[in-house]
Amino acid sequence: MPRLSFFLLFCGLRLGAQQFGSLEELADQEKQAWIRSIQHAQDRNFQNSADNRSDVRYCRMHWTVDPAVRYISGEVMTVFEPTENVTSLDFDFSEALGMDSVLYHGQHLSFLRSGNILTVQFPSALPALLPDSLSFFYEGIPTSTGFGSFETNNHEGAPVLWTLSEPYGAMEWWPCKQALNDKIDSIDVFVTHPAGFRAASNGSLMSETQTGNRITAHWKHRYAIPAYLIAIAVTNYTVFSVPAVFENDTTHIINYVYPEKLADAQIGVGENVDVMLLFSDLFGPYPFQTEKYGHAQFGWGGGMEHQTMSFVGNFGYDLLAHELAHQWFGDKITCGSWEDIWLNEGFATYLTGLCYNFLRPQYWEIYKADRINKSTAQPDGSVWVDDTTSVARVFSSRLSYAKGSMLLHMLRWKMGDAAFFQAIRNYINDPALAFGYARTKDLKAHLEATYGQNLDEFFADWFYGQGYPSYDIKWSKTPDNLVKILMGQTSSHPSVSFFEMPVALKLSNGIQDTVLVLNHSFSGQEFSVQLGFAPTELIFDPDLWLLSRNNLVQEVLSTGEPLPEVSVDILPNPAHQQFSVRLKTTENLDLRLTLWAADGKLVHEEQVSTMPGMNELPVNPGPLPAGRYAIRLENRQWQVERAVLLY
Ligand SMILES: [Zn+2]
Repeated sequence: MPRLSFFLLFCGLRLGAQQFGSLEELADQEKQAWIRSIQHAQDRNFQNSADNRSDVRYCRMHWTVDPAVRYISGEVMTVFEPTENVTSLDFDFSEALGMDSVLYHGQHLSFLRSGNILTVQFPSALPALLPDSLSFFYEGIPTSTGFGSFETNNHEGAPVLWTLSEPYGAMEWWPCKQALNDKIDSIDVFVTHPAGFRAASNGSLMSETQTGNRITAHWKHRYAIPAYLIAIAVTNYTVFSVPAVFENDTTHIINYVYPEKLADAQIGVGENVDVMLLFSDLFGPYPFQTEKYGHAQFGWGGGMEHQTMSFVGNFGYDLLAHELAHQWFGDKITCGSWEDIWLNEGFATYLTGLCYNFLRPQYWEIYKADRINKSTAQPDGSVWVDDTTSVARVFSSRLSYAKGSMLLHMLRWKMGDAAFFQAIRNYINDPALAFGYARTKDLKAHLEATYGQNLDEFFADWFYGQGYPSYDIKWSKTPDNLVKILMGQTSSHPSVSFFEMPVALKLSNGIQDTVLVLNHSFSGQEFSVQLGFAPTELIFDPDLWLLSRNNLVQEVLSTGEPLPEVSVDILPNPAHQQFSVRLKTTENLDLRLTLWAADGKLVHEEQVSTMPGMNELPVNPGPLPAGRYAIRLENRQWQVERAVLLY
């Protein structure tokens, strides 16, 4: 779904790092408003018809709308195959709309309405497995639920209309089966609207026909699609196309944009081509290659991955990457329950990270640090959605997006790149899942098959379990460079007593370094390793593979006692704008404290004084671009340097 607007504002900025703080605050305010608005709507919003006694094969929709008027009239012809003998069928359809008639073989069918369920009564029992069809004729003023299932607005004085049905809003504007158990095999969409506008929808544009002062656009889509990914948008669009050229094929990215945003859109879509090539390399060809990919601009702050035609509020790099990622993860394979929304959102979030990993590596570390920070902002919460009646919980940016993406990142770390990416390719191309639905167990089976090991424990901790670990590491060295490491761990939530993970530790003396990967299987575990040099610093998880927070690293004597001499630690690290230097000394020292950017530029300087014992020195350099910095403490006799990651 929805790439949430607040989250998006934060990411759409292309990581011009120093804006991170203020935008995140803005994001939180928006989130609050957003949660209030959806909680208001959600009471009536989470029910789906449980009727799965038919397989919907095809829908032909004809919608008549005017973007200046909040109204819809529709004809929906549904071809279905009963899976058993039926005398009635239930459809999801909002009680706010009027159903004028239901036609079956030219005859009016009687129907019953109860809340948002419409039940059609057949004159006699329909046999199982025989394709049949019926047509709905309806109209009214749609209620808008969720993220705005049917909306009208204006841009630069021009009216715009759009739909966004995820998760429970398709029934607000057309009669359908919106439960996640039956994709429609193919659709034709006809949109009739006043001349002067253009209509965007799923699949290939077949025709635009003018009759009087009205135009009818015909969009044809021949891939399986769930109800919530069907959408229309109408306004005074400018349309342009950008080719994405592959070895054997070209996919056209067709863009319906506000005329006043054409320049932005051309830049953003241009950048999106490389993203499409990357995702195709990693996960297989763009799934809807015989038709098209596209963007339609709409009036919501975020984006929505409507199949073959993502709706976007702007053309930022992250937003376009996220929505494109969904065409594989969310559209080609759709979560089979809202409990498993991370199969859509965790993946789309992680794939945006992979764009940084592989295409813009200068931002990759910051991207990871931010996902870790966001996931661990509270001590509880699982990736698994424990309450699908709450739209706010389903689309929790902390749990379904950030923590879901870190779950994938940790799997990659645990399994290694080769096994991880092979498993994901096997999953997304599995004929039993592709163009259908998947649950978490389906993904897990593919992961275990390439990894060759059971992942029950991993999923118990990171999918169903809540919270995150905090590591407490005490290390010492002998004069002949035998390094001993004592690794403790506490959990932020009682649902997980211990997180078993491989843990990377980097030992460095400023010239030489080595990275150890230790399998941490219980708190208090001891490790020792013989090095060829005397390390002066131990950096925990230097490449940010782990979801963790509030970690402590301390050098101690080989007896386990605190060092009698000077020790310097940075807390927390990574840090958000401000941090502390924890400095243990045996004497009064006057020190110059400086902070250096990666390009060698001095960005902060102050004088500090210490007393014998432990000193905690707050450092507040003000807003700085995200990145790695060196912090140096020195006087005439003495100098020490530590790395700190700011974001
Ligand atoms: Zn999304």
